Amino acid sequence: MNKLNMIYEGKAKQLYTVEENDKIIIHYKDDATAFNGVKKAQINHKGELNNAISTIIFNHLHKNNIPTHYIETLNDRDQLCHKVSIIPLEVIVRNIIAGSMAKRLDIKEGTVAPKPIYELCFKNDELGDPLINEDHALALNVVSESDLKEIKDLTLKINTLLIDLFKNIDITLVDFKIEFGRKLDGTIVLADEISPDTCRLWDTLTQKKLDKDRFRRDLGNVEDAYQEILARLSK
Ligand code: UDP
Repeated sequence: MNKLNMIYEGKAKQLYTVEENDKIIIHYKDDATAFNGVKKAQINHKGELNNAISTIIFNHLHKNNIPTHYIETLNDRDQLCHKVSIIPLEVIVRNIIAGSMAKRLDIKEGTVAPKPIYELCFKNDELGDPLINEDHALALNVVSESDLKEIKDLTLKINTLLIDLFKNIDITLVDFKIEFGRKLDGTIVLADEISPDTCRLWDTLTQKKLDKDRFRRDLGNVEDAYQEILARLSK
């Protein structure tokens, strides 16, 4: 399957058309951005690492009956996926308080949440991806009530599956962001990527951060951290 035309370039990925119009190729880049694009850099091999990590995670979710856009990994940086129209919601789950929630509510980073915290943000760079609730999502006219239920049910299942997957390799899944899309037939599937760019992953024993916070907070050794996640997931 060959890439034809680039139809979209995002912060970390490019999308290409292929001959079949219900499929696309997602190409993973080394570019990293944070703070709504204000901080930018290249992280060596990040594209290859996130492609490989996302592949393992999407295969695991697929085996556990989560519908996803993923079809197959074509090479070091390219995945063949079903074409979807992305629902403009960033769906976040927090098992441990960190990042923007720790700041916003002045809760100490590392505090365990009494139950998984389910959040929605409106995916809109100009507005800075504001935190919204389900009623706001309805008012934005991007989902129906039944879509919202489906998205929340799938998200909580994905959280359980990912907590276990990472627990087996001594990683604590602190929080993550996922996106959903609609396939041409209308079905809602998990889309985008799941990687250390989109999850907070802490070594369970040492609490060492093995995710994009190493880049956001200038902690160094970003590539090594992503490599460590891939190595453990590959065992
Ligand atoms: N996240 C993401 N993309 C975004 C915002 C957040 O992938 O545009 C992920 C982030 O990596 C973390 C989780 O969502 O795993 C929660 O992020 P948070 O709201 O704490 O925001 P941040 O601290 O990343 O600004």
